[in-house]
Amino acid sequence: MNTEDFYPLFLKSNKVTIDSRTIEKNDIFFAFSGDNFNAAIFAEKAISDGALAVIVEQKDFENKDHNIFFVPSTLEFLQNLAVFHRDQLKIPVIGLTGSNGKTTTKELIHAVLSQKYNVQYTAGNLNNHIGVPLTLLSIKPEHNMAVIEMGANHQKEIGFLCTLAKPDFGYITNFGKAHLEGFGGFEGVIKGKSELYDYIKINHKTILINENDQIQMEKTSGYENKITFGKDESDYFFRLFSEENCVGLQYKDGKALSQLTGDYNFTNLCAAASFGLHFGIDFENIKGAINNYSPTNMRSQIVVKDHKTLVLDTYNANPSSMAASLQNFVTFDGSKAIIIGDMLELGEESGQEHQNILNLAQELGFNQIITVGKYFKQVNSSANSFENTSELIEYLKSNSIDSSNILLKASRGISLEKAIEFI
Ligand code: ATP
Ligand code: MG
Repeated sequence: MNTEDFYPLFLKSNKVTIDSRTIEKNDIFFAFSGDNFNAAIFAEKAISDGALAVIVEQKDFENKDHNIFFVPSTLEFLQNLAVFHRDQLKIPVIGLTGSNGKTTTKELIHAVLSQKYNVQYTAGNLNNHIGVPLTLLSIKPEHNMAVIEMGANHQKEIGFLCTLAKPDFGYITNFGKAHLEGFGGFEGVIKGKSELYDYIKINHKTILINENDQIQMEKTSGYENKITFGKDESDYFFRLFSEENCVGLQYKDGKALSQLTGDYNFTNLCAAASFGLHFGIDFENIKGAINNYSPTNMRSQIVVKDHKTLVLDTYNANPSSMAASLQNFVTFDGSKAIIIGDMLELGEESGQEHQNILNLAQELGFNQIITVGKYFKQVNSSANSFENTSELIEYLKSNSIDSSNILLKASRGISLEKAIEFI
C-alpha cells in the first residue's frame, strides 16, 4: 500500500487513531507493535466495530477484502500520510517548540485565533513523532488554520518534525534547562530547538520572535520574515500588569487579564496576542479570548480550596520553570508554603540543579519548604524531605499546612497532584 493510493480512503475517514479502545465508526486504525504488544490482533475486531481501514505491519494480518492493509512500518506510513495530507493543505500552519510553555502558548494561540478562524491544534501534549502526524491528520477541510506543538528531547527531532508539519510560521517559546540529558547540556538545547529556525530560514517562512530574548535575537538575525514583540520598536508592544495573582497584558489602551499565574506566562500571552494581531483580530476580541482561557491542566493553575490558594504546577518541572515559578509565587500576599518535587531528566547536572533550587527557595524565604523525591532528598536534610509522593501523603494525613498560599510543582514522574486532596 502506498500513501497516494490510500489517501482517498483517508479523506473519507472520521479520524485516525493508534489506540484500539478509541475506535469509532469510519476511523482508520494504525496497529502499532512493540516488544510486548501487537495491536494487529485487534484488526478484524476494529473492522467489525466499524473502522474504515486498518494498517498493520505484519503480513499475516493483512486482509485487503476487509480493508486491512500491510505496510512495512506503521510509523513511517503514518508520517508519510501526514506529509501527503499536509502538502494538500492551503492554510497557515503555526509550529511551536521551546523548553517551557509550549502547551500553554499553543492553547492561548488557539483561543485567540479561534475568535476569527476555525483552528485545529495539537490535542493535549501530543507533540512527538507520532503526535505531530496524528495532529496533521486531524486537520479537516473546515479548518482554516492549524497550531502544532512540537516537542523534543534530542537533537534532530525538531528538524524532523518540521519536515512533517512544514510550518509557515514558527515560534520558540524559550530556551531553558529542560531535557539536558538528551540534548547534551544547555548549548545542546539551543541547537536542538533552533532546528525550527533553520527550517524557517531555508524555506523562507516567517518567525515570531521575542525581542527581549537574547538567544532568539541572535539566532534569527538576518531572517527575511519576522513578526516581533517585546520592545517599544517591535511590531507589537505589550506591557505586563497583574491583578489578584494573575498576569495580564496591556496593548495601547486595552488591558487583557488572564487566569494564569506567573510572569513567565506574560511572554506566552504576548506570543498569542501577536499572532492574533498579525492575523487581523482586534484587541477587543483577543482580550475576550485571554480573559476566558482557563488552564485546567495543572499548568500554572490557581485553585482556591478551604480558604487556601493552591498553585498547581505539577504537570512538569525543570530548573528554569521551577525558578520562574518560585519567583512568581513569592510575590503572593500572605504566608506561603512550597511543595516542590524532583526535576527529572537532568543527567549529571541533577545534583547541582536541585541544590540550586533549594538554595533559591531558602533565599526567597518561604514559610515552609517541603521537598519530594530522591534528588531533593540528597540535598535537603531537613525533616520536610520526602522520598516520594506516597510518603508526603502519609505526612499530610496527620499534619496540616498552615500557610494561606501553597505551591505544588514537580516533574510529571513525581505524581505530586496525588497529594492535592490531602492538603
Ligand atoms: P512539555 O515539554 O511537557 O510539553 P510545555 O513546553 O508544553 O511542556 P507547558 O505545559 O505549557 O510547557 O508548561 C509547563 C510549565 O512550564 C508551566 O506550568 C510553567 O511552570 C512553566 N512555563 C510556562 N511557560 C513558561 C515560560 N514562558 N517560561 C518559563 N517557564 C514557563
Ligand atoms: Mg507540552
